[in-house]
Amino acid sequence: MLTDLHIAVFGGDARQLEVIRKLTELDAALTLIGYDQLDHGFTGASKMDIDEVDFSKLDSIILPVSGTGLQGEIDTIFSNRKIVLTEDMLKKTKSHCQVFSGISNSYLDTITANSNRKLTKLFERDDVAIYNSIPTVEGTIMMVIQHTDITIHQSNTVVLGFGRVGMSVARTFQALGAHVKVGARKSEHMARISEMGMIPFHLDDLKNEVYETDVCINTIPTQIVNADVISKFPSHTLIVDLASKPGGTDFRYAEKRGIKALLAPGLPGIVAPKTAGKIVANVLSQLLINEFYKRKG
Ligand code: NAP
Repeated sequence: MLTDLHIAVFGGDARQLEVIRKLTELDAALTLIGYDQLDHGFTGASKMDIDEVDFSKLDSIILPVSGTGLQGEIDTIFSNRKIVLTEDMLKKTKSHCQVFSGISNSYLDTITANSNRKLTKLFERDDVAIYNSIPTVEGTIMMVIQHTDITIHQSNTVVLGFGRVGMSVARTFQALGAHVKVGARKSEHMARISEMGMIPFHLDDLKNEVYETDVCINTIPTQIVNADVISKFPSHTLIVDLASKPGGTDFRYAEKRGIKALLAPGLPGIVAPKTAGKIVANVLSQLLINEFYKRKG
C-alpha cells in the first residue's frame, strides 16, 4: 500500500486515468493537476490548479507519457488551463521526491538534474516497452487493414528493426500468414529471425530486398527508408512507420513517387488507452511501492 504517500499527477490523456485508479486503490494521497473538466471523481484524490499545490508535501510527481514540452508545458485533455512545471517547483518538493515520465527532453532532463530530483523515464524500461509493443502491433494491423486492398495473409511484409516492437510486429504478421522478411544488423538478430521461421536480411542490403514488398513496417528511428530504398518499392507498397517522430522514412520522396507512407505514432494510446494506461500504472505502482518500503527501511 502507498498510504501517506503524497503524489501529484499532472495532466495527460485517458492512460493517466488508469494510473490514478491504481494509485487510489493503493491508498496514496493524490493531487490531480489539469483535471478540472473531468466529471469523474476519485476517492482520496483532490483536483487543484498548479498554483494551489503545496510542493513541499510531495513524495512523487507523475507526468504524462509525453513528459513536458520544451518550455515545461504539460498537455492535458481534461483542462484548458495552462500547466507549466518549473525548476523552482521541483526544488520545493521533499528531497527524495521522484519524477516519473514516459519520455523526456532537454527541458525535463535539465530541471530534474538542477533540482537534484530523480527522473524515471518509464518508456525506456524493457518491461514497459515490451508490454507496450502488444497494443502497438494491434494498431499496426488496424492501419494495414485500413490502407490496403489485400489481406495480410500471403502479403510480402518487410519489417525493419528487430527490437522490442520489431520482434512483436514480425511475429504477429507471420502468425497472420504474411511472408515476413526482417531487416536487422546484428548477427544474433539474423539467427533469431531465421530460427523463428522468417527471412532475415542485413540492412546494408535493404534496397535490394524490397522490390516485391506489399507492406513495409519500419521501427528504426533513423532515416532508413530513404529515397534510394523507396525508388525500389513497387508502387502499391504501403509504408507504416512506427519509429518515434520524425520517423525513419523520407515522406517527401514517398509522396513524390506516389507511395503511401504513414507515420503512426502513439498507437497504444489510440487503439487501447485502457490497456496502455494499465501497463504504465502497473509498472509505476510497483516502482513506487519498492521506493516507499526502501525509504521506510
Ligand atoms: P528498440 O528495442 O530500441 O529497437 C530499435 C531497433 O532499431 C533495433 O532493432 C535497433 O537495432 C534498430 N536500430 C536503431 N538504430 C539503428 C540504426 N542507426 N541503424 C540500424 N538499425 C537501428 O526500440 P523499440 O522499443 O522497438 O521501439 C522502436 C521505435 O518505435 C522507437 O522509436 C519507439 O519510440 C517507437 N514506438 C512507437 C510506437 C507507436 O505507437 N508508433 C509504440 C512503441 C514504440 P540494434 O539492436 O542493432 O541496435
